[in-house]
Amino acid sequence: MASTLEQRPPRPSAGELRRALPLMEEALGSPVWIVGGYVRDLLLGRPEAADVDLVLERADAAPAANWLRRHWGRTEPVVAFERYGTAQVSFALGEGGRFTIELVRARSEAYSPESRKPRVRSATVAEDVRRRDFTVNTLLLGSRGRIQDPTGMGLRDLRLGVLRTPLEPEATFSEDPLRMFRAARFAAQMGFRLADGLEEAMRLSSPRIRIVSVERVRDELIKLLLAPHPAVGLRLLLGSGLLAETAPELAAMAGVAQGGYHLGDVFNHSALTAELVPPRRVLRLAALLHDVGKPLTVGSSDSGPTFYRHQQVGAEIARDLLRRLRLPGAEVDQVARLVELHMRPIQYRPEWADSAVRRMWHDAGELLPELLELARADTRASTFPGTAGLDELEVRLAEVARAHPQGLRAPVNGTQLRAWRQLPEGPWIGRALKLLVDATVAGDLGADGATSPEAAFLYLSGHRSAWEPREGERGWSGGTA
Ligand code: ATP
Ligand code: MG
Repeated sequence: MASTLEQRPPRPSAGELRRALPLMEEALGSPVWIVGGYVRDLLLGRPEAADVDLVLERADAAPAANWLRRHWGRTEPVVAFERYGTAQVSFALGEGGRFTIELVRARSEAYSPESRKPRVRSATVAEDVRRRDFTVNTLLLGSRGRIQDPTGMGLRDLRLGVLRTPLEPEATFSEDPLRMFRAARFAAQMGFRLADGLEEAMRLSSPRIRIVSVERVRDELIKLLLAPHPAVGLRLLLGSGLLAETAPELAAMAGVAQGGYHLGDVFNHSALTAELVPPRRVLRLAALLHDVGKPLTVGSSDSGPTFYRHQQVGAEIARDLLRRLRLPGAEVDQVARLVELHMRPIQYRPEWADSAVRRMWHDAGELLPELLELARADTRASTFPGTAGLDELEVRLAEVARAHPQGLRAPVNGTQLRAWRQLPEGPWIGRALKLLVDATVAGDLGADGATSPEAAFLYLSGHRSAWEPREGERGWSGGTA
């Protein structure tokens, strides 16, 4: 008595995939194994990843992907990469969620020193796993929950928390230098240590990272930054020379001493700050980069090193670096802005006038929550980790937000300005509006919330030279009006 509910094919998921393995093996006439991150994370009890990798002993990738698609009654396309003998199918789960399966026919790869493109031939599963990056990523999960450890080292390394390459480390890293970044990323994600000889091999092979595309490096760097222990990964990148190769601006922070206020040098302080902010991309990047202007601005005084204008210089360096790493423009802007503003909450003192608090609230805009998180982490990563001042600032900022639910804006708009001055449009309107916003923030247009158009016009009349149309520009009407 099958109900219609039972007849509907199940929604694709890792669990359904595992249930489907015996049928799939029968249909394809080949053993099918789940390999890599899914198996590793399952055995570690880490949260399930959104993607699963399959290795097929004696079947091609694209027909296997098609079988799965049909089995689940789905219409998503199978993307086949014939050159590599791989295929991918990505199922939409609703609400933006996806379940992606990558398939590959077991193969071995041979690399030549000049190129990243390997020569590929089909092989056994035991051979296949030797081309993978680390033994903890070579474990296989088959039908009915069978676990296989073809290198004989994967389960032990997983238990001991060790990253070890299946082949000799230098060969593994030289073949695909991104694996060195992956080592740092896995150390940051899982707290694993590197097997003996691995760091040395990374030091020797780090210049080869230049053959890897900037997008692949960027994606690994972001995963590392979002991990529970980014500082661990960042130190590995620094020590191996990988950071100097890919982001020399970050490596330059190492060894730059700071005054009594900060823990360690600029690099270690920055890595710790990144670890202390919540794992959001913009925030972690801003934390890593907040002091990146210090190496270029270091000076000395009787009371120790100085770093005048390091926020502004740092914002420019951050912008250049993140653009080079091809991050989205909006993220680049946000990170650069946070770097530029990062000292403001830290400089807060209880004697600040309300106008100064309003100014910070206005300047931070939508970034205010991130700016405060950054300031808290920056403070906690120092030798004076007290955040009572920031707590007080936050209370005062919340009062400003309550008083100005629409934000701080000029009390008149451009149309009203033109009607008042009887002048055509021109750059003068922008200048007048900016002046009015500044005056509103400073409290010069009357008490909070009591600003009126009349007060705005009066204020502008008293500051004509700052905004009136200038000779030759649009809006200029030929003489002093
Ligand atoms: P995560 O999904 O958390 O990023 P993962 O280990 O699953 O981690 P993937 O990039 O999904 O990483 O790759 C899946 C598997 O493919 C890995 O576990 C590993 O066995 C292999 N692999 C991935 N990238 C490489 C590489 N650059 N060199 C060698 N093997 C790799
Ligand atoms: Mg994966």
